[in-house]
Amino acid sequence: MNSEPDSKIEPTPAESESPSAEAGSSASGSTASGSAASGSAARVTLEIDILTLFPAMFQGPLAESIPGRVQVRGLATVRVHDLRHWGLGRHKSVDDYTYGGGAGMVMRPEPVAAALEALRRPNSTVILPDPAGEVFTQRRAHDLAQRTHLIFICPRYEGVDERIRTMADLEISIGDYVLSGGEIPTLTMVDAILRLLPGAIDAESTAEESFTDGLLEYPQYTRPPVFDGATVPAVLTSGHHEAVRRWRLKESLRRTVQRRPELLAARKPSREESKLLSEVWAEEAAAVAPLPAALADPPVASDSE
Ligand code: SAM
Repeated sequence: MNSEPDSKIEPTPAESESPSAEAGSSASGSTASGSAASGSAARVTLEIDILTLFPAMFQGPLAESIPGRVQVRGLATVRVHDLRHWGLGRHKSVDDYTYGGGAGMVMRPEPVAAALEALRRPNSTVILPDPAGEVFTQRRAHDLAQRTHLIFICPRYEGVDERIRTMADLEISIGDYVLSGGEIPTLTMVDAILRLLPGAIDAESTAEESFTDGLLEYPQYTRPPVFDGATVPAVLTSGHHEAVRRWRLKESLRRTVQRRPELLAARKPSREESKLLSEVWAEEAAAVAPLPAALADPPVASDSE
């Protein structure tokens, strides 16, 4: 894995034309970007502080689409802080060589501790993205969306000094692979959290999408009615709401059986779901081509062979 040079980071430029253009400075005096307009603070339900060596990485993703709108509407405030503000010495150093030798640099604990000292409140939840953490899920996203203040630490280099872990309330992994730093995992989590805030998007959308009820979402269609020979299932254009609801639930179950059966094992189906599941099983079994006769009744080798 590559280590990062301990280079000087330029201050984040203000986003003059983005929805988060009214971003102010954080309490720490460090650069803040992607923040909601301070004038709408009364409606803010969630505050997020992000500690990073690369504040510019957050500008686009937090200013566009749902995350941008959520902040403009005053449903959340996101402040991005340059961790180097709390760096050590003349060079604002945040990393050092690993004790015991080995490749790459490790993030020192003091700058993170100083940043948390400035930002942490009694109701804060401090999150450390880490490949060894619990795997991020929709359930955890719902949980975090109900909290009042989240602080994300974005490590770089080979990772963090072990003592930084003790400063975090949660260590979270976004999957079994290694990224260059904590910024993209943090953006992933922040995006998933912001869209769950009440008023962020149509409540029906989040209620029906994948993982909310432990199932994958059903197939969706839009115009045209026939594309490349493939048609839209007739039930969806029937106008029969109950039939559509039942079809969607059944196809949701089918997709989960086919692609993520372990999700089904982790939840108790309702009576209706059990019935639909047996239909799905029967249909799936019928769809499997029968074994060729030679395989169904193979010749048996004699003991002497
Ligand atoms: N040496 C570390 C290891 O083997 O676990 C990986 C360090 S990685 C280059 C730098 C940082 O990126 C990590 O400390 C973590 O904050 C973040 N990161 C990388 N992959 C991640 C993942 N799958 N989930 C969450 N954070 C991740």
